[in-house]
Amino acid sequence: MNCTACTRPLDAPAQLCDGCTRGLDVRLGELPAQYLLLATHLRPGAARGDGPVPLVREAPLPVREDVLDMRAAGGMVTMLESWREAMQQARGWGPPARTGTVERRVMAAARGLQMNLEWIAEFFEGAGDIACEIRTLSGQVQMLLDPAPPTLAVGECAADLGGGDICGAPLRVPHGTTTVRCRRCGTDYPPSSWLTLATGAWATPAGAAA
Ligand SMILES: [Zn+2]
Ligand SMILES: [Zn+2]
Repeated sequence: MNCTACTRPLDAPAQLCDGCTRGLDVRLGELPAQYLLLATHLRPGAARGDGPVPLVREAPLPVREDVLDMRAAGGMVTMLESWREAMQQARGWGPPARTGTVERRVMAAARGLQMNLEWIAEFFEGAGDIACEIRTLSGQVQMLLDPAPPTLAVGECAADLGGGDICGAPLRVPHGTTTVRCRRCGTDYPPSSWLTLATGAWATPAGAAA
């Protein structure tokens, strides 16, 4: 028998392995706080400003639709409540109440799932799906809270590591800089070399030495 989330072999009959169970537990514990934190990311660039909110007289400030979607009905709350309801149904229980603010509903649904985690990991037929869906959801939330700065791919490192062994590590221009350094071998590439890199013209020994 294998874990229905990661497909690792299990020692005893169950739905989830220990690792996937722990991961699900941790994520369910984090989601309610992350839901609250998302409120501070609704406005582009608003996450760092904690001063007084200026009075808006004209056009409203733009809102991050991706953050709004995650916080609205159909987002995080719906996924958690649907899984809680499916779990309760599988146990022969009635549907859970969906009352109060969305914040409270997120908390209640996540707690309800966490409190039944042992049963979910052992018996729930949807265990693999919930573990995978919650992992994806958690990843999406983390991206919303801390989006990776955009980078530009410029090609592969052409440095000769010795004996014609070309490094080949992917090179990216970090956001806001004009310095490209190979993270594998440390070779620097000035902006004037990026076009050559991107077109693969380094593939000659003379080019690699530049
Ligand atoms: Zn697993
Ligand atoms: Zn390199």
